[in-house]
Amino acid sequence: MSAAPVAFREYDEDHPSPDEVARRYRTLIEQLPLVVYVDALDSISSNIFTSCQIEPLLGYSVEEWKTEADLFTRLLHPEDRDRVLEAHEHTQKTHEPLSLEYRLIARDGRVVWLRDEGVVVVDEHGQALHLQGYLLDITREREAELQLRQLALYDPLTGLANRAFFHERLRHAVQLRHDDEHATGLLYIDLDDFKAINDRWGHDLGDEVLHEVGKRIERSVRPGDTAARLGGDEFAIILTEPVTPEDAVGVAERLLSEIARPMESGSAPLNTSASVGIAFGSHDETLLKEADIAMYRAKGHPDVGYAFFDSQLDRAALDRSQRIAELRDGIARNEFRLDYQAVVDLDQHQIIGYEALVRWEHPAAGELPPGEFIPLAEETGLIVGLGEWVLTEACTEATRLCQLHGRPMHMCVNVSARQLHHQDFVHHVERALDSSALMPSLLTLELTESTLLASDERVVQRLRAIKEMGVVLALDDFGTGYASLSYLRQFPIDVVKIDRSFTAHVDTKDGDLVLLKGIIDLGHALQLNLVAEGIENSEQHTIVRKLGCQQAQGFYFGRPSHPAQRDLDSVGPL
Ligand code: C2E
Ligand code: MG
Ligand code: MG
Repeated sequence: MSAAPVAFREYDEDHPSPDEVARRYRTLIEQLPLVVYVDALDSISSNIFTSCQIEPLLGYSVEEWKTEADLFTRLLHPEDRDRVLEAHEHTQKTHEPLSLEYRLIARDGRVVWLRDEGVVVVDEHGQALHLQGYLLDITREREAELQLRQLALYDPLTGLANRAFFHERLRHAVQLRHDDEHATGLLYIDLDDFKAINDRWGHDLGDEVLHEVGKRIERSVRPGDTAARLGGDEFAIILTEPVTPEDAVGVAERLLSEIARPMESGSAPLNTSASVGIAFGSHDETLLKEADIAMYRAKGHPDVGYAFFDSQLDRAALDRSQRIAELRDGIARNEFRLDYQAVVDLDQHQIIGYEALVRWEHPAAGELPPGEFIPLAEETGLIVGLGEWVLTEACTEATRLCQLHGRPMHMCVNVSARQLHHQDFVHHVERALDSSALMPSLLTLELTESTLLASDERVVQRLRAIKEMGVVLALDDFGTGYASLSYLRQFPIDVVKIDRSFTAHVDTKDGDLVLLKGIIDLGHALQLNLVAEGIENSEQHTIVRKLGCQQAQGFYFGRPSHPAQRDLDSVGPL
């Protein structure tokens, strides 16, 4: 037997009592820069002993740890909980050591990172007694790690991904979707004339601008997409989610309008603009090059602000932007005209009103139907001005028709979502009625189901206000949307216009007849006024009349046309 180690000789010499030994051990344990614990090997790992360092660390007393059985589980960070509980269970079952890092939430809400190292202590017969271990506070290390990561992956000025991280994300995005059908989209953004800002106002202000642009870019991207600063005034966005060219245009347009908003800087607002190159592909390096080339092309047509690498897509983007410019000019130059289509009363057998349908007399393309420009006018907001013109023009025509016929004539005007969402819409209607001196009850506003989609309480209020004025509200193209019936309940609708798709084959298909009858019966039950759209022949006319529909519209009674071009009293077969 070898001699006792020097460190123990003192104990031997002094013969300390067991209490003294315990006291010395406790002092030693309490001096350690960590928490020592002993837990039972029961299902909830109830605590047997915890050293007092736990209190400053987490704000809960030793007593609380011992008495509150679920305290540990409660304090576990939600993202770590399952992992930690599983590890504990594993150790209890296998008696293998416990070694893991996780977060606990301290009493004051702080997040504390801990390293937990535990071993199962066994007696001389190999019987497991308890779990014993220590908790080491590693919060500072973790935070430093996070900071390092932030520095390594993010641009300090904007907080966006830096160039290195961008490349990593792009590679990853491309790997996820490698076939052409699911190409990854990339937007390359370069500020226009940024050098001038730096030269004129100095680099501090230049940095401020970049910081602000970074924030705006971040706001414009969709969840899941990656925005990065590649250096200088160059940014990029990886459209990680599957996208169509239209989606990419949507992001580019949002981005450009965000960046174009004047920035508050010192005394005067500062204006910036950018150019965006868009490319799709399945190879990261090529994608970046192509988006860069497209960006330079975008600089060539600043009125659009963006360009595709793919020349076909680019053509479409240019066409679209040209159409927008033409639409704007067309509105300013009054290139629009209204045609009117008769609405007939099937019982009285006479015209009771008209629907105004807008046409664009395009200087180069000739007459364009609404389907070719209303969607664009909607997207760009130009519909608000155009729609107000339609309202006023139609109301004025209605007054003229009333005088011409010596009896009331209704006027139906189509309204789009953008108009309805405009805060001044009620005012627009009032103005049109005032200036034309038309009785409000002779005006019907036609709203489609898609117009009413995503309507909020303000829209409902607006419609109520309009209805209180005496104006009639109609649901147009009834049956083509998803929730036709719920709209009837939600909005103060008086008239339902049954879509052409229900009447078109009613004379040849029995199934359609049953469907149409169902809709008409329902309309009657809800006491709605019904108009059958798209009546093209006498058979359809007879059927809708027999089914009890009060009014109808369609080529059979008259095509949309301008009143000046025809004799109003001889419209259709009436
Ligand atoms: P809508 O309100 O359902 O108008 C009826 C459309 O059906 C018109 O097409 C009309 O020409 C067409 N139509 C009428 N009778 C028949 C028929 O018997 N057979 C067939 N095949 N078609 C018939 P249009 O003029 O091309 O208008 C299309 C849509 O454009 C309109 O559908 C309306 O939603 C929208 N629209 C028209 N003018 C305006 C407007 O001033 N503002 C807004 N926001 N939308 C408008
Ligand atoms: Mg209509
Ligand atoms: Mg319709």
